Order: sequence, then C-alpha cells, then structure tokens
Amino acid sequence: MTSAPTTLVDDLESNIRGYCRQFPVVFQSACGSRLVDQDGRSYIDFFAGAGALNYGHNNANAKQALLEYLQADGVMHSLDMTTTSKLKFLETFQDVILKPRSMDYRVQFTGPTGTNAVEAALKLARKVTGRRHVVAFTRAYHGHTAGALAVTANSYYQHESYGGRDDVSHLPFDGYLGASVDTADFLARYLDDPSSGMPTPAAVILETIQGEGGVHVASNAWLRRVAEICRVRGVLLIVDEIQVGNGRSGAYFSFESAGIKPDIICLSKSIGAGLPLSLVLIREELDQWKPGEHTGTFRGNNLAFVAGEAVLHHWQDPSFVAGLEQKAATIESWAQRLKREHEVIVRGRGLIWGIDFGKPGLAREIANDAFRHGLVIETAGAHDEVIKLLPPLTIEESDLVAGLRILRNSIDQLLLGETLIRLCANEDWSVEASSRAGHSHDVPSPQQQLV
Ligand code: PMP
Repeated sequence: MTSAPTTLVDDLESNIRGYCRQFPVVFQSACGSRLVDQDGRSYIDFFAGAGALNYGHNNANAKQALLEYLQADGVMHSLDMTTTSKLKFLETFQDVILKPRSMDYRVQFTGPTGTNAVEAALKLARKVTGRRHVVAFTRAYHGHTAGALAVTANSYYQHESYGGRDDVSHLPFDGYLGASVDTADFLARYLDDPSSGMPTPAAVILETIQGEGGVHVASNAWLRRVAEICRVRGVLLIVDEIQVGNGRSGAYFSFESAGIKPDIICLSKSIGAGLPLSLVLIREELDQWKPGEHTGTFRGNNLAFVAGEAVLHHWQDPSFVAGLEQKAATIESWAQRLKREHEVIVRGRGLIWGIDFGKPGLAREIANDAFRHGLVIETAGAHDEVIKLLPPLTIEESDLVAGLRILRNSIDQLLLGETLIRLCANEDWSVEASSRAGHSHDVPSPQQQLV
C-alpha cells in the first residue's frame, strides 16, 4: 500500500498541483528506471519525467561528472557567459549529434523550459519573415506561456481572457480525418488560396509524434510533403522535438527517418539529462537575432551542460543504440498482442507508445491501478483516453518486461470490469457473452477471463 503524502503539500501548494495527486506518495530517491518512496517502496518508471529522463534517473555518467564539477568549484551560474561546461557541451553536441548528421545549425540557449524554446522559435520565425501568423495542428502541445499556448490545441489549457490566439490557425494533423485523407492537402490549399481566410504564415510548427495529444504519429510521407509545401512557399518549418527528440523515437531526432531539414528545431527535456536546459537549433542563414534579443537569467544552466554532455556519449556506444531497437521491438510486440486480445488502438514508435481506449476516464483508472502495483505511468489525449508508455531509453530489459506485465494486468482487470458492467446491463448477458466469445478479437467473455 502507498502511504499518504504530507498534508503540507495539500495545505500550502496551490490547487494547480497535478502529478502529486496522481502519484500520492513522497518520493525519496531514484536510480535508473526506478523511483523509491519514503517508505522504501520501489516503482518502475514508465513516465521518465515526461521525457526529461530518457537516460534514467541519476544517470551514472551524469552523476559522476556533476560530482567532479561541483568538487572542483565549477561555475554554477553565469547567464550566457562562456564557461568550460558550456564549451564542452557545445563541442560534444557538435561532434556527436550535429556533424555525423551533416546538420549546419546554430545553437541558441533559451530559458530553461521547453516552452521558452518554443517562444524563441516563434519569435524568430516572425522576425525573419516579417509575418505574424503561424500554423499549428490539431492536438498539438507546445507549452503554456502566451505564444506557446496559442499554438497548443487542447481547450483545457485555454481561457478567453488569456487572449493572443488571433495569429494562429490549427489545421488537421496527419490521420486526423482518417487514413484515406492526406491532410497536407489542406495546408497546401489554405496557403495557395487567397480566399482561404488564412494569412500567409511565418511558420508551421509541428511535433512529428504528438506526445501530450495522445501519441499520434505522423508518417514520413506526410512530414516530407509538409516540409516541401513550406519550403516552396517560403514558410518556415519549426519542429518541436521537446518530447520526442533525444532518442525517444529510436533515432536522436524524430524527423531523421523522414529525411527532412527543419528550419528551426526546439530541444529540451532530456537534453539536460533531467536538469533544466533548452535550446533552439537555427538554420544558419536564419540566425538573425541581435545580441541578447531573446534573453533570460537562466539561459545555459551549467550543471545541465555537465550532465547533458555526459549523457550525449551514450550515442557513441553501439550497444546503447542496439538496445533502443531491442526495447522498441519488445514494446511493439507487447502492444500488438494487446491489440489482438483487446479492443484498443495502439500507436507509437521507438520508446513512445500510446494505448487508446477510446473513452474518457478508463486510461486514468488503469494508470491508477498500475501505480498501486508499482508502475508510474501517465495518460495523454484531450480526454485522458490514452495510456502513454515513456520508459527511460536506458531501462533494463527486465524492468521493461516487469513494467509491461504490471500494465497488462491492470488493463486486463479494468477491461474485465468494463465487460462485466456492459454485460450486466444487458438483460440476457449470458447469450451476449457466449456469442462474443466466438470473435477472437473481442474482449474475452467473463467466463474466458476467469478460467
Ligand atoms: N512542447 C512539447 C512537445 C512538449 O511535450 C512540452 C512539455 N510536455 C513542451 C513543449 C513544453 O515544455 P515545458 O513543460 O518544459 O515548458
């Protein structure tokens, strides 16, 4: 059983608090893919700081580098002055990530949140093009300050009084209108038709895999079309890699398999190995900022440079890269089996997967049940209809399998409950149950499940 958290949080912290309600224990330590609460109970982490802990909690390389840096009185805070930690980070980022991919980009360190990277990207696109309008997509999530919130789609986060959405259009994301509709046609048509009602935008901003929106994966073909539509019309393409960059999709950048070259890329979360750090990659000719034009006190967090530099070396380790493929295959076959045995939709790539239960509330109940059995996992989608799997990339295969087993048990339990409720609501439910048992893809009948 989980212990009750301190009431200090309930009494003192604003009603805004969120995750502490979902995971109502007091966490005390963490290592790799495990969190431990103050009662010594260990949890497998399939949430990984919403993608900030791709390299695990207290990654050994990062921890060692941080201890040495602090021991040597390394500079802790320096605005955007040059420090040894910044130099080392930039050098490794260039050598390990940019150069092998022939990516000629400038690096801008923004304020430490992903949202601030999005703000900077939007501002730069507007400044460079001289245009205000921006196209975003249905179910998009880009953050919560005014500019970033304007391109975020979910109405839960909006309020009329916040203002500032006048300069944004949300067009249908890939698959939004079903598999047979190529929604890139909408973008092309809106841009080309002077009577579409949409001003020519400065930029199109997108996530290749929409994380918060419920794990919706854009196809490579769609991404290529959108990139080309933008390129020929002089509209900048901003790819928000905040959740699915840093290896989450299986490759370092999620757009690599599409072979596109975004104009601006936002990176955050795991770039600092769990410490706050965000950056924007800017195609060289677009780097038209004046010095200090998008400034902030906490640009370039030195401890995050140290930790972030240390974890970048994982990308030079062939066993890390091979391990990603192996773990992705484990999750995918687990998800495909789940789909065969239950009425669910599964979506994902690499180490981000979503199980869509198609109705509000159920995913939350499943996540709560899984937590009671020792698994930290989050929901996604506008109606919390999706369970989102986001384990650390460095998770041990044994923890991955153990976490999947807990999740599967919770799903089986909750779906069995659903089935019973549905069947009991039906007057002749034994007939219904036996007729359903004939369909191998249906939810198993209570009889089947109980034996
Ligand atoms: N963009 C995407 C795609 C995200 O997933 C998030 C965070 N979930 C953000 C932007 C905002 O990042 P932050 O919460 O660090 O401001």
